[in-house]
Amino acid sequence: MGNPLKIVIAGCSGRMGHVLLECVFADDDLVLHGALDRLGNPQLGRDAGEQLGKVSGVKMTDSIDEALKNADVLVDFTRPEASMTYLAACQKHQVKMIIGTTGFSAEQKRAIEAASKNIAIVFAPNMSVGVTLLINLVQSAAKVLNAGYDIEIIEAHHRHKVDAPSGTALRLGEAAASALGRNLEECAVYGREGVTGERDPSTIGFATVRGGDVVGDHTVLFAGTGERVELTHKASSRATFALGALRAAKFLGEKVGAEAKRHGLFDMQDVLGLR
Ligand code: NAD
Repeated sequence: MGNPLKIVIAGCSGRMGHVLLECVFADDDLVLHGALDRLGNPQLGRDAGEQLGKVSGVKMTDSIDEALKNADVLVDFTRPEASMTYLAACQKHQVKMIIGTTGFSAEQKRAIEAASKNIAIVFAPNMSVGVTLLINLVQSAAKVLNAGYDIEIIEAHHRHKVDAPSGTALRLGEAAASALGRNLEECAVYGREGVTGERDPSTIGFATVRGGDVVGDHTVLFAGTGERVELTHKASSRATFALGALRAAKFLGEKVGAEAKRHGLFDMQDVLGLR
């Protein structure tokens, strides 16, 4: 076995950051190299393991340069504006990146794509193995149920989530739209209210539920005449996303032949070999 992969976690004190730390500590193939959070975070300067009752020897910092020096992979579950800063720094330090943050604008997504010419990036709004499979199932279903079936995507998340619909719901919408030769930006309907008129069959509808501690539920509904097909995924723990993100980090750490993956934009379909 080679040297453990040197991981930097951004948003260390966040909900995902916490679970990522736990998973890195539990994995002998990975070592915590840096722990980042935003300026003003009360935990800056403390050992990153402290919140889990562990001593990691890595202090939580807001100094990106310090955290990224000699690192292999940055794992980012923060906010789009923070991800953009980390993206620039990762290019400067030639550190690979896992981007799990959601809520990016089209322009920010283009910046990620451009950065992938310089560094290797895995970018996925949902890192769980189950949702990655669901995306493939939705594509297959859309190809078969390609006429006479209305597509609606329903998602539910905890009360703290700040963006809607979820990045995963949008990704599922893109999967269905692309299988049908449609452009999601042109056919998406985000919520309905008042006198909406009859449903346009070419649209893909989204409905959002927010409340409590729901980790993440997604259903893609194909509603036809006389039947409905529902494809559903329910996440019961954030560990599923953290384990997927770290699997993605290992994927970037792997070599292709004798060559390291130096640049390129990948998603979880690539990580799981589903392409
Ligand atoms: P959270 O609010 O609990 O944590 C966010 C972390 O980012 C905090 O540590 C916060 O201090 C830090 N942060 C916020 N703004 C920052 C800034 N400007 N600079 C530096 N750090 C900053 O959120 P969370 O529930 O952990 O989710 C984080 C992100 O990950 C969200 O976008 C969420 O939708 C996404 N998410 C993705 C997946 C996936 O599988 N891809 C799964 C779960 C959550």
